[in-house]
This record gives sequence, C-alpha cells and structure tokens, in this order.
Amino acid sequence: MKIVINPIELSKAVEEKVVRGRSRKYYRFRGGRWYGGIATADAVGCNLSCGFCWSWRANHRIDGVGEFYTPEQVASKLVNIAYRRGYRLIRLSGGEPTLGFQHLVEVLNNLEYENLGFILETNGILIGYERGYARMLSKFKFIHVRVSIKGTNPEEFSKLTLAEPWGFDLQLKALENLLDEGVPCHPAVMLSFSAKEGIDNLKSKLKEIDKRLVEDFEEEYVFLYPHVEEILRRRKLKPVIAFRPNSIPSELI
Ligand code: SF4
Repeated sequence: MKIVINPIELSKAVEEKVVRGRSRKYYRFRGGRWYGGIATADAVGCNLSCGFCWSWRANHRIDGVGEFYTPEQVASKLVNIAYRRGYRLIRLSGGEPTLGFQHLVEVLNNLEYENLGFILETNGILIGYERGYARMLSKFKFIHVRVSIKGTNPEEFSKLTLAEPWGFDLQLKALENLLDEGVPCHPAVMLSFSAKEGIDNLKSKLKEIDKRLVEDFEEEYVFLYPHVEEILRRRKLKPVIAFRPNSIPSELI
C-alpha cells in the first residue's frame, strides 16, 4: 500500500515527539564548509519523507536519536562554533527547523545581537500554511530563508516526498508569504529527478510570484553519499543528475 502523508498532520505528530516545553530535539552541532563556512545545528524530525534525504536515519527514528536543547543552549553552541572557527554565518538544518516554531523564534531572539547572519533551511510547508510564521520571521533582520523545493510540480513532489501533492503549492506559498512580509528568501529546487520542461514551467510559476525568485533560483542536486544511495534504492528513485561526494561539480553520473 502506498503511503501518502498529510504534511500538516504529520507536522503535529512529529512536533509532539521533538518539542518538549521550550526545547527542541537536535542530533548534531557542527561546523562545515557550505556557504564558505557555517555553524550548523541539525534538528531531528521532518514533516516530509524525501527519498533522497541525507538525514533520513535521524528523521526515521526520532525517538532513538538526539537530545533536547533549550533555545539558549542552541544559540550558545552555534555562536561558539562560529566564533571559534571565524565563521560569519550560522544555520538550522537537518530535519525541518520550523517544527516547534516558537522554539525557533526563541533561538533567533538569542542571536539578535551577535552580528552573525542566519540561514533558515526549510521545506517551507509550515510557512506556506501559516502566513503568521513569515510575519514572525520578518522581525529578525539578520536572517535569510532558503526554501528547499522538492521537484518541479505537485506530482513530482508527491513521488519524491510521499506527501499529498498539494504540499507543493504550500512550498511556493511560503516564498510568497516571505516576500510579502519582507523576509529575504530564495528557492533552492531539487532538480535531480526533473525534466527541462518541468523546470521551465516552475520558473514561469515563480516569475508570476516575483521575478527575483527566478533570478535567485538555486539548483539543488543529490549527493551520492552511501546512506543517500541506500534510501534512493529503497524508494526506487533514480536521479537523472547527481554528484559523487568530493567530486568536482562537472562530474555528473
Ligand atoms: S524536507 Fe529535508 S529533512 Fe525533510 S525529508 Fe526532505 S530532505 Fe529530509
């Protein structure tokens, strides 16, 4: 039987497991080379189930992985990593950081005077569903939201994420809500499984929202780490374009 996820209902179910009072569950704090150097906190739990997810192991067994951290602890760990390594940026990533939104807001409150940039990597589902979330983010002038869009249309989205096709429109709505509330953002689109026609159609849709979304369109492709290859195999997904880790970008399979 094919699983079809209602991403809003799944959000609530996952929040019950990964949010405890003001705390949220994370499985890792780390530095990394992305964005030219960035301190990262990887949250546990997601409201989608992508067949190429690099943190699927943590997201699939949320009860058995990670620990709960208060907003103060998360902010402090990130700031320490950033200052120790000379980074100017920090981010939340891993699972879906907008689950437990109040916790996220409190993390941001704690970062307000640190003179660091903050990148929120999100699938956008909850920001598309709840415009108030975009409004709350707009009060933080040091953030940028990277909305990671799964595929180029509702059917592709559903195949890749196991979620109801309407979730795709929430991802686009997230960009609209963020722009309407004056929050800097851009789309990063997973294109490993998409045809050119789908990409062109998506760009037309994004242009209807705002032409900046086409100018800032980021292409995202699967990196074939062993655990990513494992989930791809299980889900019977074959990327048309993917990268080998440590390969130069031109080395496509
Ligand atoms: S949205 Fe991100 S964290 Fe969630 S399942 Fe997809 S790739 Fe993984």
